[in-house]
Amino acid sequence: MIRFFSIACFLGISIFQNTYAQQQFSAGPSWLKQATFYQLYPQSFKDSDGDGVGDLNGIVQKLDYLQNLGITAIWMNPIFESPFFDAGYDVADYYKIAPRYGNESNLRKLIEEAHKRNIKLVLDLVAGHTSDQHPWFKASAQKKKNEFTDRYIWTKSKSILPEKFVAGNFERNGNYLKNFFDCQPALNFGYVNPNPKNKWEQSISSPGAVAMRQELKKIIAYWMDMGVDGFRVDMASSLIKNDADFAATMQLWAEMRNWFQDKYPQGVLIAEWSNPAQSINAGFMIDFMMHFNVPGFPSMFFNKGGVFTRDTCFFSTDANGSADEFIKNYTDQLESTKGKGYVSVATANHDISRLNCGSRNTDEQLKVALAFLLTIKGIPFIYYGDEIGMRYLPDLPGKEGSILTNFGNVNRAGTRTPMQWDASANAGFSTADADKLYLPVDPNETFPNVAAEQSNPSSLFNFTKNLLALRKTTAGLGNEADIEFLNPADKSYPLVYIRSSGTEKYLVVINPSGKQESIVLNNFHSTTFTPLLVDKVVCKKDGNGIKIIADKTTYGIFKLN
Ligand code: BGC
Repeated sequence: MIRFFSIACFLGISIFQNTYAQQQFSAGPSWLKQATFYQLYPQSFKDSDGDGVGDLNGIVQKLDYLQNLGITAIWMNPIFESPFFDAGYDVADYYKIAPRYGNESNLRKLIEEAHKRNIKLVLDLVAGHTSDQHPWFKASAQKKKNEFTDRYIWTKSKSILPEKFVAGNFERNGNYLKNFFDCQPALNFGYVNPNPKNKWEQSISSPGAVAMRQELKKIIAYWMDMGVDGFRVDMASSLIKNDADFAATMQLWAEMRNWFQDKYPQGVLIAEWSNPAQSINAGFMIDFMMHFNVPGFPSMFFNKGGVFTRDTCFFSTDANGSADEFIKNYTDQLESTKGKGYVSVATANHDISRLNCGSRNTDEQLKVALAFLLTIKGIPFIYYGDEIGMRYLPDLPGKEGSILTNFGNVNRAGTRTPMQWDASANAGFSTADADKLYLPVDPNETFPNVAAEQSNPSSLFNFTKNLLALRKTTAGLGNEADIEFLNPADKSYPLVYIRSSGTEKYLVVINPSGKQESIVLNNFHSTTFTPLLVDKVVCKKDGNGIKIIADKTTYGIFKLN
């Protein structure tokens, strides 16, 4: 059963219309037009010092690899000081790098080396909560009033325990509001229309909430001034409470964007909001269509294996799914964000299953999924290892909060395993003993690895690389080119769409089905179909239209005249 609606509720996300007076933002710095992001899980990418955990120097060692793949920007999950009860999303010091990843001089080196290769570096900003080990929280839990007393949201007495509040052994006579896990107290950005009966609800203009906004700017400026290129903001919609239509939260981010843009015109702000219509109109430059809130992603990719599961999905050889829900929501989101930012559909992320999951586990199937993801409108985000077909590893023990107990004990660890660089010990990820690794490597002896994939011209890696190169050199397939889906409502396979920019037009055919599928499109006036990247798909004129015949589990990209 799919659980994204309950996640939406948990994250405090609504799908209601908002009353925010929209500002007209631009789509962000021009480098985004041709950007391809790579999301890298720092603890699992490359370990340079043999302690079993990936680190910043390890990433430096692999920048050539990323450049060769065609990546232009990296987003790294949080690298800050943390007790790691939620893998770093529980920050204990926003101004310090966790020693397991290195130090500031390692980050400076990474920035410098990435920039030498024209790769931007984006950090993760956990804006809505800290760890309960953060000194701010510890100070806030003191009885005596201090600078941090109102940095979090506290009841006035231990005897009051509203929903989502956590009790603890504090000097302060109160319980605190959590934002995600119990160990992640919500920072105080205030409440819309605070209810005077609920003494913990302070207004968004209260001194505590105002101070918090200032602190957020300070954190952003600290790392931007060091040379990073922007932030992905964790749970960006969660900041202001009781904000049913998100108007106040959007206002907060709009102010932040104005400030950020003036100071860092080349910087990028990416939301984890999963509702581009809201986030991009609030000033974010990129948001995802992911697993919560805006429906669509699960119906395309979630199958019976992995983190959040579903009985059917579009990318399945059973061909019993439908792309309709995705298309509807994706096109609506594109429409309401046109020219103002980018809607991204990532290959995966650290919270959900990888593309290679359950019965979707062959290179043919993964190529079809990547052909789709890398030919649609928006900015591509490749989750590390998806370019070589790493799989979601089932049945791992929980690691650093990977298990979501509130959602049926789903385990995110299977998506966070070490990058598979070669066939040597620990897949070339680390020289540590196998039992010291952050997470175990795939025990399957034939796991895909970078070295083997790079030397095989028909590998998934080379397919991804070729596709990215094609996208980059073909305006009509680029991040901003238009997209029009052509399938009638009752016909899901093969999926057919047109990408276009100016007079350039491309036809894309995607057939995840395990059998041959065909479709007739009437009133289709193009007469020549020049194959650019095609695997057993044929287009023929058919009266005043065309007939497309796609062999099982294939894709085709054609230039139209
Ligand atoms: C992150 C998760 C994290 C949660 C709490 C998210 O949505 O992506 O990995 O557990 O926020 O910070």
